[in-house]
Amino acid sequence: MPLTEAQLADIAAQREATATTRRVTVPALEDMLFQAFPLLDHGFIRVIDYMGDDSAIVQAARVSYGRGTRRVSEDAGLIRYLMRHRHSTPFEMCEIKFHVKLPIFVARQWIRHRMANVNEYSARYSVLDREFYIPAPAQLAAQSAINRQGRGEVLEGEEAEQVLRLLRDDATQCYDHYAAMLNEAPDGTPADPSRQGLARELARMNLTLNTYTQWYWKTDLHNLLNFVSLRADAHAQYEIRIYADTILAMIKAWVPAAYEAFKDYRLGAVTFSAQMLAVLRRMLAGEAVDQAVSGLSKREWAEMMQAVGK
Ligand SMILES: Cc1cc2nc3c(=O)[nH]c(=O)nc-3n(C[C@H](O)[C@H](O)[C@H](O)COP(=O)(O)OP(=O)(O)OC[C@H]3O[C@@H](n4cnc5c(N)ncnc54)[C@H](O)[C@@H]3O)c2cc1C
Repeated sequence: MPLTEAQLADIAAQREATATTRRVTVPALEDMLFQAFPLLDHGFIRVIDYMGDDSAIVQAARVSYGRGTRRVSEDAGLIRYLMRHRHSTPFEMCEIKFHVKLPIFVARQWIRHRMANVNEYSARYSVLDREFYIPAPAQLAAQSAINRQGRGEVLEGEEAEQVLRLLRDDATQCYDHYAAMLNEAPDGTPADPSRQGLARELARMNLTLNTYTQWYWKTDLHNLLNFVSLRADAHAQYEIRIYADTILAMIKAWVPAAYEAFKDYRLGAVTFSAQMLAVLRRMLAGEAVDQAVSGLSKREWAEMMQAVGK
């Protein structure tokens, strides 16, 4: 259960309140605001706040005094031009803030995205919840034989059960020892009055990496698209990819024109090296080119053939 009844009530109360503003708002994102989208077994992501919409991108690009927008098709055309030609700063005019609950090993990947503002739940100040990520059986895969950073066949039978047992038992044992070292009753008083208990900042080092943490994470649209292009990609690990996929759906609701341009010019696009382009030109001219005469390495050749669907 990612959220308690009290937390759900807080969110519901926040969603009831409305405010008038002169700033632009996006009804589709307003609908999602504050709501927790569950991910993994105990995680979630929710939008806490945002600034700007598609019009903010064109406004900034035109450095306009007023709304700065023209016909919807003209604005979308400008956004597509900006995306195609890698103009980044107009997209930086839109900002968004998320509340994310995620396992610590996913947080370690996420935090590598430096162009963001982060405030994490303090395990020096507070006690972490007894919540660990245990993969669904479909995600319990062997090491990939062809990709050192990937997964292969799904584990089955007794092997899968043993892995799940180890994950649960180890996380539970480590958490039990964490709780014992803290020596805190639920009301904050010592569980065993004869002991002082270890400081929270030290006791936490005993927790497993599948323990959940939480943070507020704020970034601009340009850097968010960079995050999504790397983490919603097939090369990214499933556990971070599903957060990126959910963010992508939020981007679609928030800035639909930028989303379409991003889908076409970034997500669905490929980059060819100068050598790959030369090979493509030779092929289009009718020459039978194979890897041996292409000048490309086997890996580059395979990547190029995959990109052109051969
Ligand atoms: C599939 C995958 C596998 C990965 N494997 C590994 C791995 O094995 N080991 C590992 O360590 N990391 C790994 N990473 C992390 C990766 O190398 C990046 O650190 C991470 O994706 C953040 O990307 P970023 O730098 O573009 O994002 P951000 O940090 O958000 O930066 C955005 C952009 O801002 C600029 N920028 C930010 N900070 C600076 C700076 N200090 N100096 C100059 N320019 C800056 C850069 O142009 C950068 O592209 C992996 C990432 C992916 C997606």
